[in-house]
Parts: sequence; C-alpha cells; structure tokens
Amino acid sequence: MKRLIYKSVMSEIQEFAGTGRFVLPLSQVGGVPLEACVGMDAKVERGQCIGRSDAPENAFFHSPAAGRVAALSTRVTYEGIAAATVEIEGDPSGAVETLQPIGQDIAELAAETIRERLREAGVSPLGGNGTNAVYASLRAEEDPPEMLMVLCADPEPLLQTQRHVLREAPEKVIEGATLLQKAVGAGRLVFAVSGDQKSLVSGETVEMGRRYPSGHPELLMARATGAYRLDDGRPRKDIYLINAETAMAACRAVREGMPVLDKTLTVGRDGDLAVVVRVPLGTPFSKVFGQMGLAVEDRDRVFTGGPLMGVAEFDPDAPVTKGTDGLFLQKAATLFGYEDAPCIGCGQCIKVCPMKIPVNMMTRNCEFGRIDEALAYDLESCIECGLCAYVCTSRRPLLQYIQFAKKEQEKAELARQSA
Ligand code: SF4
Ligand code: SF4
Repeated sequence: MKRLIYKSVMSEIQEFAGTGRFVLPLSQVGGVPLEACVGMDAKVERGQCIGRSDAPENAFFHSPAAGRVAALSTRVTYEGIAAATVEIEGDPSGAVETLQPIGQDIAELAAETIRERLREAGVSPLGGNGTNAVYASLRAEEDPPEMLMVLCADPEPLLQTQRHVLREAPEKVIEGATLLQKAVGAGRLVFAVSGDQKSLVSGETVEMGRRYPSGHPELLMARATGAYRLDDGRPRKDIYLINAETAMAACRAVREGMPVLDKTLTVGRDGDLAVVVRVPLGTPFSKVFGQMGLAVEDRDRVFTGGPLMGVAEFDPDAPVTKGTDGLFLQKAATLFGYEDAPCIGCGQCIKVCPMKIPVNMMTRNCEFGRIDEALAYDLESCIECGLCAYVCTSRRPLLQYIQFAKKEQEKAELARQSA
C-alpha cells in the first residue's frame, strides 16, 4: 500500500504542439455530442468554432490548429457515445482567433452573460474521464446547487495534473472558480486541496489526507457536507464538481476570450515516470508517448485516468479529449492478469474498503448477476475506488464485477420506470 500515498512531484508543464492530424470527437463531459459546423476540406483558423449545439448546457468546440478539415467521421467515445468527429490537418502553434471582448467589469457580469461566454468558449468540465465521480455540466438549474467544489489536487496517486495547473496560475483558478460559482448559482465555493496547497487558494477549503482514496471526489464531497448522500443516484444534485483546469479555462474565456484548445495531462509509464504536459486537443495518444521517447508496442496496455480508477484504451491512436487527465503506458512485461479465480475468503478487500462494505460477499453476487443480493450487501455505497481489486489475493476482477452489477441495476431501474 506504500504506492498509494499521494506524492507531489512538481516540474514545469511541458508544451507539445507539433503539426499533424488532430482528431476531434465533438463530445464533452457533462453534455451531449455537438454537430459539426465546418465542411470537408474547409479552411479553419486556430480557435475557430467547429462544433456547436442549440442546447444551452452544451459548450461549443474549437479547432486547436490552423489548417483544413481532412475528414468528417463518427467515433465512439469513452462514454460509448457515437459522436460526430472532425479531423483537422494543421499547425497548432499560430495565433488564436479569440472571442470578442465582453467589455464590462468582470465583477459586474450577470450570471447569464458568464454562462453564455463559457458556452461560446467551449468551457465544459475538463478532466473526469477515468474518475467515476461525475463532473458537473456548467448549466444553471432551477434548483441551484448548494456548493461548487473545485478539485485542486488529483484524486489518484500518480496523477499530478490539477496540482500543476493550480501552481501555474492560482489567481486564475480562484477568479475562474468565482465566475463559475456565480454562473451556476452555487451557495458555497469550496476548494479541495492537499495540505501543501492551502496557501495557494483563498476561501473555504476541504483537505484530503495523504493516502488514497482520501482525494476521491465522493469522499471529499462527503467530508465537505458531513454526509454521504449517494442514495438518489449520480451526480449529486447538491454539489457541482469541477477541477482547477476548468476554473482556469473559465477565467481565460471571460478575461481573454480564449476558447478551450488544449488539455493538460499527466503522462507516465509503468508507474515510475510521470510528467505533466499540455497538448492540443485531438493529439493521438501514440504521438504524446512518442514525444516522450516511448513507443506503444504489441500487447502493451494504454489507459486513461489513473491506475486505480482509469480505463484501458484499445486504440493507441485514440485522441486526447477534454476529459483526459492522465495517460499511462504499461509495458507488456509488467502486466499481470486478473482471472475468474474463486474467492478464498481472506478478507483483505474488506479491510481496505473505505465504505466498510462486505466486499467479498457483495462481489460474489455481482459476479453472477444476483443484483438484489448484491444490493443487500451494500452495492450502492461503493464509490468504485478500486482498492479491493488492488489487494485481492486471488486477483479477482472485483471492480469489473461491481461495474457490471451497477449497469444491470440501472437497466432494471429503467425497465421498471418505462413499464
Ligand atoms: S467495494 Fe471496492 S471499489 Fe467499492 S468502495 Fe469498497 S474498496 Fe472501493
Ligand atoms: S481479497 Fe479477494 S480472495 Fe480475499 S476475500 Fe476479498 S475477494 Fe475474496
């Protein structure tokens, strides 16, 4: 469990911006896919809007490079959604076509004006893929959230993305968070930080501990409110969750008219090499690894997010999206397999579970689709932190059993509602 201590390894954020093809599925965390508003072979400027939607919760999408539209296609995203995809051949290093200045004192801006600017600039939650807590969409609800929580540290030990963003521009993160609080009408603004970050933010904070999973968003939200309230499904309606990078993007959209064109992410290999880079949206994973001198070879595993909650990606040329916080390469020689081995009842999973779930009994029922029995063993309290699978003596794929059972439960619930 030594590897599960949160570490802070700070360095400069490296900028990668080589020319080439950028593959841009027009989808985002907390919204539905957009429609392309450029045609095949069209010339595009860097920062030009290429995807939009009339739905008020959907932020637009912009070209990260100046060039031309090389293909229009459909791509199945991380969430399993078939999204219209624009492929642009071009150069991501030139001048950006920014939005018109708002021309008003920022402190005086109405919530509606801020929301409209965020939408036009493509500010949707940045990050969150591979973290099972749901990041908020940035719309105003009739019933505003009690709290906007800004994750300034990363939920998993190997990820370093958000702490780098905060250190780079704390004043922008704070201003952006304040704008977002106004935009969504949240009563409280809370920064979730590690101990060494407290001096970088002002206002209310909730502090994570040193060991995973204390930075898990569900645990931080529970700590900030004093209660677990997971029983009415996800996302929690009383808290909007975003991260430092989203707040910085909000500040830049309002102050500079800057659209979202790139993503900051932690890149690592086999758990021992991790650097933080900023790359244009749509950059293929293989190219990001290539710029670090790493080649993806047959049987290597690529995954996004962190090592405990992240998800494997079968296509090494999949593109960086607004949701990509981490990108890791695990070489084939270091992989070990999970198997459908029987549970030997050693109890290790129960010892580590932060939600005090009788994990062995719960997952035995998940495995065979006995959902009612799994629910009786507290399936709904599971925050999918992955710790049980990490320690399982029999290397059982416990998290996959849990996720399978939750999906089955969702399907049964939908069927009940539509009956
Ligand atoms: S059951 Fe496993 S994944 Fe769920 S909260 Fe407990 S340790 Fe985490
Ligand atoms: S750690 Fe694995 S083998 Fe041990 S009780 Fe839990 S599920 Fe069973």
